[in-house]
Amino acid sequence: MRFHLTDDQRALRDEVREFTTEEIEPKARDLDRKKEYPSTIFDGLADRRLTGLTLPEEYGGRGEGLVELALMIEELSAGLMSVASTVGLHLGVATVVERFGTEEQRRDFLPEMASFDTVGALGLSEANAGSNKLEMETAAERDGDEWILDGHKQWVTNFFDADYVLTYAKTGPDEDAPHNISAFLVPTDDLDVETVWETLGANSVKSPRVSLSNVRVPDNRLVGEEGEGYVQRGEIHTGVNVPARGVGIARAALEDTVAYTSSREQYGQHIGDFQGVGWKVGKMAERADTARLLTLRAADRADRGRDITREFSMAKINATQAAVDNANEAIQLHGGLGYTTERDVERYLRDAKLLTIAGGPNEGHKNVLAEAVFERHDDN
Ligand SMILES: Cc1cc2nc3c(=O)[nH]c(=O)nc-3n(C[C@H](O)[C@H](O)[C@H](O)COP(=O)(O)OP(=O)(O)OC[C@H]3O[C@@H](n4cnc5c(N)ncnc54)[C@H](O)[C@@H]3O)c2cc1C
Repeated sequence: MRFHLTDDQRALRDEVREFTTEEIEPKARDLDRKKEYPSTIFDGLADRRLTGLTLPEEYGGRGEGLVELALMIEELSAGLMSVASTVGLHLGVATVVERFGTEEQRRDFLPEMASFDTVGALGLSEANAGSNKLEMETAAERDGDEWILDGHKQWVTNFFDADYVLTYAKTGPDEDAPHNISAFLVPTDDLDVETVWETLGANSVKSPRVSLSNVRVPDNRLVGEEGEGYVQRGEIHTGVNVPARGVGIARAALEDTVAYTSSREQYGQHIGDFQGVGWKVGKMAERADTARLLTLRAADRADRGRDITREFSMAKINATQAAVDNANEAIQLHGGLGYTTERDVERYLRDAKLLTIAGGPNEGHKNVLAEAVFERHDDN
């Protein structure tokens, strides 16, 4: 068992950390306040092919695995969570094309996706298909060599700057569930925007509700086997980007708090020297480290082709709650300043809260975890 990164992994982490320090951190507060899209940041990530991190090198990607994805996403999320979510979701869509698409689809989409010239967004959730995606109402009907899609998708992150939405739709009767859902690459131009929500956080990248009305999609835009889209989705594990985002926020909150409590003085001493504060900061470090270990364990198992049902849900629950708890504590320990937009810690809390809901609410993951614990006892 190894608890250290390889030289290549450390180099990747340092590369993304440097990028985050130079390109994201100085802009993050402003982008959030102005609700502005971080386009120049994505340009920089694309220049470094980080937008194709996990895609094979033959298609222009960097050929890395899920451990590397988790490391990159942690760094990006420590800078600005919206950047991390956009890249994580984009790579999730690209991975579905890579794993289940035809060779023609791989050639058509992956090089442009690696360079972020073609951007993917995920269209899975709907108004009545939140935690339970099997209740989706969007349907696709075959018409010769085309499909006709009708319905809507909700919370399509990065819709406005994406080129395609990987849209999940029912192609078979309910009694065949979960083998009745297929995935289609639908151009964003074919979808109509219905609602753009004002949100608590994640302000730089919008997640609107969009509708599909009689949208015709050629057969060669069906990705993967007909009826198996939802099941195949369960075989890719780019979802580790969600706990990794939690780790990034938990760590950023810790680092800001260490810096602040080491310099702020009250009663003639640094507030970090009060035992009560020191214990809290220690707890924040414990949360961040636990979250990272659990996330990297899930990613590592996935890279080794092992089942991660138990490990993924554990990481998701732990890391996203760690982000909320650390951000909350960071505000407290920054005192009045922590409550202002002059500091980043209030944004951490607003962004962190999304993570206990998106990617499946933590309550659902607790059910999955409980089931897995009863079913499987090995932990290697
Ligand atoms: C900003 C944002 C961005 C998103 N981006 C995307 C995206 O890009 N693509 C996409 O497809 N989806 C996206 N989502 C959707 C997200 O995955 C869903 O919001 C999430 O799965 C929960 O669905 P819901 O909101 O309908 O909540 P519901 O399923 O209605 O659940 C509401 C609450 O009920 C409780 N609950 C639910 N199930 C259980 C249970 N089994 N046991 C106990 N309590 C339970 C939980 O507290 C939960 O938060 C995004 C959501 C948001 C808010």
